[in-house]
Amino acid sequence: MSALRDYRMMIGGSWCEAASGAWMESEFPYSRQPWCRVPRGGEADARAAVDAAVAAFDDPAWAGLQPMARAKLLFRLADLIEARADELAEIESRDNGKRIVETRGQLRRIPDWFRYFAGLADKIEGGVVPNGNADVLNLTVHEPLGVVVAITPWNSPLLLAAWKLAPALAAGCTVILKPSEYTSASSLELAALIEEAGFPLGVVNVVTGLGGELGPALVGDPRIAKVSFTGGDAGGRAVYRLAAEHFHDVSLELGGKSPNIVFDDAEIANAVNGITGGIFAATGQTCIAGSRLLVHRSIHDEVVDRLVAACTGLRFGDPLDPETQVAPVATQPQFDKILGHIDDAKAAGATCVLGGEAVAGPEGSDTLFIAPTIFTGVTGDLRLAREEVFGPVLAVMAFDDDEEAIAIANDTDYGLAAGVWTMNMRRAVRVTRRLKAGTVWVNTYRQVSHASPFGGYKQSGLGRENGMEAMAAFLQTKCIWFNAGDAVPNTFDLR
Ligand code: NAD
Repeated sequence: MSALRDYRMMIGGSWCEAASGAWMESEFPYSRQPWCRVPRGGEADARAAVDAAVAAFDDPAWAGLQPMARAKLLFRLADLIEARADELAEIESRDNGKRIVETRGQLRRIPDWFRYFAGLADKIEGGVVPNGNADVLNLTVHEPLGVVVAITPWNSPLLLAAWKLAPALAAGCTVILKPSEYTSASSLELAALIEEAGFPLGVVNVVTGLGGELGPALVGDPRIAKVSFTGGDAGGRAVYRLAAEHFHDVSLELGGKSPNIVFDDAEIANAVNGITGGIFAATGQTCIAGSRLLVHRSIHDEVVDRLVAACTGLRFGDPLDPETQVAPVATQPQFDKILGHIDDAKAAGATCVLGGEAVAGPEGSDTLFIAPTIFTGVTGDLRLAREEVFGPVLAVMAFDDDEEAIAIANDTDYGLAAGVWTMNMRRAVRVTRRLKAGTVWVNTYRQVSHASPFGGYKQSGLGRENGMEAMAAFLQTKCIWFNAGDAVPNTFDLR
């Protein structure tokens, strides 16, 4: 018998192990010790989950529910998550090593997603289309898309699951959630709360396993209607290709190389806080990381000095300790990748003014700590300026005027987010409109909300999550024509 906590998958209302009997262990990134096991699902499990979600979609127990009844289930789920927020936060921090103060902050806000979309469930209105014939009534109604496969990454497992589940369920879809192989536990805890809230069997299924094994089995099933994916470029590309085979609807939330632009009239103390939060929160492992700092040449040295001072002498430690200021990186592959980028930037001639190396953690920890790192003198051709690092590494570039700042900011394949720091309103308006990014913050950074559409321009993705647009993404429109006229003409008599 294993000493680890064992989780089971939720398929069609049953808690089950993988059909193959295989398991995967999940480590606490701080100690590198495994703390739980989850089933390593495969093709047979994927098929069973799709069977369950397809059956539940047409079952009157779900399909026959009034929208207000769906809303009540979502409100109940929100209450259950709220009641267990701290416990769920601890599970997430154990799985991905994120600081407990950050996971608690996320968990406390997750119920808002379920409540917001619960409130929209009975506001899915259709329309009447004018057609010029008094005997003909042409209506539009919106119906749920069908079975949704929701695939999530390891950096914010439950938050990103909520972004998908809340609108999908409010719209009347059924869902198969596949969390990251590194962080499956909290999604399985969520499945238990979904069961407790009283959702009919099979409406939400949670399957666990490797992306490369389970993902294709789920996305390649012709019976699903949509795949909603959050993750990296490679996984996103694989999912998009496979979805095309079956013309599945797709939304993709991918990576970023977001610029934080500091003009010479900025409030520098606020900008420094925004920049450090932008790149060093979650040890840099966020899609919206402000990983490129574009700073006006006249204040370049002052801003860099203040950043270095703000990021010096920080407490590296246990993510479960609220006093910890720097947590480890989540996984060994991520750790290796970040150090590779640091070595590459050094070799390419960028100047490392802070960090630039792995750090020995406190006693009892293992070695996944990387110092907050700042490079100056970064040019646009460097990998550090072009590729997503997904770690605590800031690339600083100087600019001389607004046009140059905009050109550097937009010189990227990505377009997820951008920050603008200026006290000049005219400049703020002009610059924000010209930035090619799905979210632009002015004099703030990292704000997201259940009500505010979120998604990427260019290779940062397709579609939007959150807000009213997210509901539409889980609905399809049916056009209905009613004829009240007396006679239907015979086509062969047409003259
Ligand atoms: P990843 O792409 O490796 O994995 C994401 C999910 O996709 C996991 O559940 C994984 O198992 C699955 N997956 C992997 N290959 C697959 C395949 N071939 N078919 C189906 N599923 C597959 O990403 P990650 O390392 O877990 O997360 C980091 C990435 O996520 C970063 O690039 C980050 O920018 C991105 N991200 C984006 C957002 C956003 O909203 N835009 C939010 C968070 C993270």
